[in-house]
Amino acid sequence: MTDLPTLTADGLETYLHCPRRYEFEHVHGLEGENDDSSRARVDLLREAICAALRSGATDRDRLEEIAGERLSELWTGHDEPFHSRTQRNHERAVLDAVLEAYLEEVGADHASGIDRLEAPASELIGPALPLASERSLPAEDGSDRVRIDAAVDYVTLAESSLVGVSFVPTLSPLGLLRYRSDWEGDVAALFVDHFDAGAETFEPRAAGALLETSVVVDGLRRLRERLDLEEKTCRYVQIPLADRYRTAVNWVQNTVDATVEPIDLTDVYLDHHTYAMTHEHRNETVDSRLVDVASDVLAESFDPTPRWDEIAPESCPGCDYAVGCQDRLAAEVRFDG
Ligand code: SF4
Repeated sequence: MTDLPTLTADGLETYLHCPRRYEFEHVHGLEGENDDSSRARVDLLREAICAALRSGATDRDRLEEIAGERLSELWTGHDEPFHSRTQRNHERAVLDAVLEAYLEEVGADHASGIDRLEAPASELIGPALPLASERSLPAEDGSDRVRIDAAVDYVTLAESSLVGVSFVPTLSPLGLLRYRSDWEGDVAALFVDHFDAGAETFEPRAAGALLETSVVVDGLRRLRERLDLEEKTCRYVQIPLADRYRTAVNWVQNTVDATVEPIDLTDVYLDHHTYAMTHEHRNETVDSRLVDVASDVLAESFDPTPRWDEIAPESCPGCDYAVGCQDRLAAEVRFDG
């Protein structure tokens, strides 16, 4: 898979938010002013958990011990500007509670699933374990194929499935996808309408998550082939590690309790009509939009005007590039004039 134009699933989601934002970030390589402290803390947990999984331990207490030690090392070097020592101690207690909840609810099972795969840790455990999907582009495009990369934090075996797992700060960007378990119905409508310039629906995060699912599931198929596990289905699970709604603080007793709520995005991605024909976890609507978006990016179609009515209120506020963005400045001038 060399010499192909290469895009990333994250980048495609950025493109869905705003093509110009994609250009700033991925073509010109401009860094936005991103102060995402919850993501930085999730990265600490991500690395600590992956260290525990890489150890080969499957016992819950041993996993907690290894992850806890690694988290302590990482926390010592973590220089987030907290307001006070109390706040710093509280955030550390939240991380410990989330780690405990993760290991209790899924972590130990996932460690056993990794163990059953009997493959090198480098093939299965990240952080940011790369997966890639190759897609054919429409004939009129200059290149005939594109490679799209995504990353998961680890891959495990669960019953009849090879499962890619990604840690995320929270599931809230998924919106409706959190509460549905089928593609048919309002998930399909949301996805199709997002790409309909005549519809008001603008759901770049949910649509981006479905594109990412398509890439991850296809990347897992390649891994499945390498591991000689053709009989397994491929699934994609996200686990939130900084979801405030799943953290309960008892300020009197100075304790923190947490739960984690994994979501299987394959459930909402899988189109049963396609499945009936192919017996594969696929979705032709999502797959075809993935190729369309990739084609638009490769064609350097970065003008946000066609979706300006949605981009201006939804994507511009809080955009890291707003200060120097000519599209936004021009719109403000038009509005003021
Ligand atoms: S400010 Fe608005 S138009 Fe400019 S890059 Fe950001 S989202 Fe796009």
